[in-house]
Amino acid sequence: MESDLLVVGAGIVGLAHAWAAARKGWRVTVLERDAACIGASVRNFGFVTVTGQKRGAHWLRARRTRALWAELAGEAGLRVEHQGLVLAMRRPESAALLQAFAATEMGEGCQLLGREEALARQPGLNPEGLLGALYSPHELRVESREVIPRLAAWLAERHGVRFRFGEAVLEVDAPRVRSSRAVYHAERVVVCSGAELGGLYAPRLGAQGLQLCQLQMLRVQPPAGFRLQAAAMGELSLVRYEGYAELPEAQALRARLQTERADALAHGVHLIAVQSADGSLVVGDSHHYGDVLPPFASEAVDGLILDELRAQLALPQLAVRERWTGCYPVSDRQPCLVDAPDERTRVVLVTGGTGASTAFALAEEVLHGW
Ligand SMILES: Cc1cc2nc3c(=O)[nH]c(=O)nc-3n(C[C@H](O)[C@H](O)[C@H](O)COP(=O)(O)OP(=O)(O)OC[C@H]3O[C@@H](n4cnc5c(N)ncnc54)[C@H](O)[C@@H]3O)c2cc1C
Repeated sequence: MESDLLVVGAGIVGLAHAWAAARKGWRVTVLERDAACIGASVRNFGFVTVTGQKRGAHWLRARRTRALWAELAGEAGLRVEHQGLVLAMRRPESAALLQAFAATEMGEGCQLLGREEALARQPGLNPEGLLGALYSPHELRVESREVIPRLAAWLAERHGVRFRFGEAVLEVDAPRVRSSRAVYHAERVVVCSGAELGGLYAPRLGAQGLQLCQLQMLRVQPPAGFRLQAAAMGELSLVRYEGYAELPEAQALRARLQTERADALAHGVHLIAVQSADGSLVVGDSHHYGDVLPPFASEAVDGLILDELRAQLALPQLAVRERWTGCYPVSDRQPCLVDAPDERTRVVLVTGGTGASTAFALAEEVLHGW
């Protein structure tokens, strides 16, 4: 056999499997249909999030993945832009929910801050109506569009992983894999094809009740000197991220937001804002679901995202520098899908917006004992 593991897809899930396998001493080949990774893994915030992930196994996966990112950043020379999270509270219902959250095991290491402490921790917060914040030290932020190609290059140099870009996998019948250019033989094959639900294993994926979710994102330039000390989120995130949203205390907040922010909720808008080395902010996002996602980004939805940005951060002026969309597969059954069509093959999808936060631990789970 040419490889111990052949990976389909060079997004973060594929790269996570390549890294985990290379650390076991396996010979790894990665096939990617595009000339570079241009999927969800480079379109995201690069926000490695622990706090707020779904309680239980997924939250544990995020903790492990965060630890692995820290290790990898040192080894592979990947820059961490900033650490931690400040989630602002502006309604008493949020304060009650975050108090309940902080009392669970998921609150480990987090702090509830009063208004002045919150402003001291994140001076860029909009002070209007601010009651306080949840501070979490766990999060990391990386610049995905730089880190993903660098990680692939490091895997090739340091671990001898073979990459073939611009080569679509057309058929997997392990140990034989046929691409648009060649035939490969590998002991095991892991298919990490992201949002490509109509391609490899389409009938099996079709039986999993998956949909696609499309997001709108922006890069904005704040005034010179504006610095985030940590990632910023607001209350709309508390009814999206399952770690908060599945607590009983979320019901009162959801009911209030339904009356006050129905427009944002209808488009799945909430705020994540992270900062890049050049001072620009990556800001989002919205969530629209379906089997087919039109490629047209709505200005009205971008307007809702920017309104939420101004509500959370003191940014009277800002200029939009870039706009883009991204998409990932979603399931209401599970946060990740690991399917085994046969002994030698696994199909691995992160079925929600958490791949940067969970892929490294997920890859360890998949390879464990295989
Ligand atoms: C806008 C946006 C913001 C997000 N923000 C965050 C965040 O901040 N934090 C976080 O944790 N998660 C975030 N996510 C989710 C995260 O980005 C995804 O869960 C993750 O990138 C999925 O990785 P992947 O490798 O499965 O998919 P992708 O990055 O899409 O990679 C899949 C790859 O497989 C390739 N492929 C498919 N079929 C074939 C084939 N037959 N042959 C060869 N190659 C093939 C594709 O070309 C693609 O490059 C966000 C997602 C989006 C879209």
